Amino acid sequence: MGRMSVGVARRRGRGAPLIEVDRVSKTFGTPGEPVPVLDGVSLVVHPGEIVALLGKSGSGKSTLLRCVAGLIEPSEGAVRYQGARLTGPNPGTAMVFQSFALLPWLTVRQNVELGLEARLVPPPERRARAEAAIDLIGLDGFEDAYPKELSGGMRQRVGLARALVVHPDVLLMDEPFSALDVLTAENLRGELLELWGSDEFPIKAIVLVTHNIDEAVTLADRVLILGSKPGRIIAELPIDLPRPRDRHQIEFETTVERIYAEMAGQGTATAGAGPSGLVTPASAPLPNASVDALSGFAEILAASGPTHLGETASDLGLDVRDLLPLVDALVMLGFVTLGRDGQVDLTAEGMEFAGAQIQVSKQIFARAALERAPLVRLIANALEKAPTRTLRRGFFADILRRSFAEEELERQLDVANDWGRYSEQFAYDADHDEFVADPDRTAVLAGGGAR
Ligand code: ADP
Ligand code: MG
Repeated sequence: MGRMSVGVARRRGRGAPLIEVDRVSKTFGTPGEPVPVLDGVSLVVHPGEIVALLGKSGSGKSTLLRCVAGLIEPSEGAVRYQGARLTGPNPGTAMVFQSFALLPWLTVRQNVELGLEARLVPPPERRARAEAAIDLIGLDGFEDAYPKELSGGMRQRVGLARALVVHPDVLLMDEPFSALDVLTAENLRGELLELWGSDEFPIKAIVLVTHNIDEAVTLADRVLILGSKPGRIIAELPIDLPRPRDRHQIEFETTVERIYAEMAGQGTATAGAGPSGLVTPASAPLPNASVDALSGFAEILAASGPTHLGETASDLGLDVRDLLPLVDALVMLGFVTLGRDGQVDLTAEGMEFAGAQIQVSKQIFARAALERAPLVRLIANALEKAPTRTLRRGFFADILRRSFAEEELERQLDVANDWGRYSEQFAYDADHDEFVADPDRTAVLAGGGAR
C-alpha cells in the first residue's frame, strides 16, 4: 500500500511512544450531578505492539478509546500523539467500530473512500488507495456492493478497510468482533494477526478494546485491565506467549485465569457507592443475569458447598466467564460472598433462598432486590408514589440515560423487569410501554430501611 515495511518494528515496546495518555479523567453528567467515568488513566502505546484494553461493560473502554482518537476531550489530563498534545481528532489514528458504522446508501468502495474525502485527498489517489485497502482486506469483487448485501464478517472487513485506507499509525478497534458470530469472529481475528505479521500492513500499533478475555490473550502483547465506576487501570500484564497462540495450551489457560482473578470482584456488585456515597442504579448497575439463571446457580452452589468458581465451571462444562454475571448478581443480592481467589460461599440468606419453596424464595428475593438492587428499588419506590401505580418506561429511561449508553440502558431495564416480575413487585407492560406495580405485591417496603 505504498508504505515502507514496518515488519521489523514488530517487537514490543521499541522506539518513541506513539500515543501517551496522561492521567486522563472524564466526567459526564451535569455539574450538579457528575458521572465520573474515567479516573486518572495513564497508558503508553509503542510502535510494534498490540495493546488490549480489557474491562466489563460500562467500565469506560469506549470513552477511553474516544479520548485517544481525539473525538472527545478529557475532563482532566492529556492525550499526546508523537509527543504533541491533541486539540482535536488524532491525526495518527483510525477507528473500527463494533457496529461497523457503514453508510447504507454508499457502496463498499465509497464507504472505504469516505475517510480520505474528509482528509481532502484528491479523487484519483482516493481511488487507488481504496483499491489497495480493499485488496488487502479480501474484499475484491465486492467493491460495488451495498452494506445490506454483505454478511456481518464482510461488513466488518469494510470497516477495517475504511480505517486502513487513511494509513493511520495506530489502529483503534472498539470491540470489533463482538457483533459477529463465533466462527466469523475467530476467522477475522486470525486474518488480522496474519496482516499484522505481514510487511504490507501499514499500521504501527493496535489498541483493541474488548470485554473478552480470550480475545485479549489471543491477540495482545500487553493487556491493561480497566476496573469499573469510575474506570481506572487496575492491572497490566505482558502476554509473552509464542504465536500462533493456542487456547488449549496450559500457559494460555493460566494467563486467562490470572486475568479473570484480577477482574473478579471488580464487578458491579462490589463497586458500591458512587461519588456522593450513595449506591445508585448508575454506581451499581444490575448484572446481566435472569432470575432463572441465578437461582439455578444458587441451587447448584447449595448442593456443592463452598467451592472454587473454576471448579464449578468445569463441573458444569462451562467457562468460568459464563458464570461471572451470575456471581455478580448473587453477590449484589447478598446471597454469595466471593473471595479474591475465586472461592464462592453461599451466605445464610443465600442458603435459604436456594432451599426454600418457591413462594418463600420469591419473598427472600424481593426483600434482597428491594434493599440491594438500586434500580429495582428505584422502580418499586417510584411506582409506589405514582397515583395510578404505573409509570411510562421513558420516565426510567430518561433517568438512566444520564449514566448509561442506550444499549446498556435497555439491558438494565430488561433485567429490572425480570427481577421485578419474579419478586411480584412490578412488571413491564410492553403494549403500553409502562411499568406497572403488581397489585398483590408483598408488603415489603422499599428503601429507608423500613420493613
Ligand atoms: P464500555 O465501553 O466499557 O462499555 P463506555 O465508555 O461506553 O463503557 O461507558 C462508560 C460509562 O459512561 C457508562 O456508564 C456509560 O453509560 C457512560 N457514558 C458513556 N458515554 C456517555 C455520555 N455521552 N453521556 C453520559 N454518560 C456516558
Ligand atoms: Mg464500549
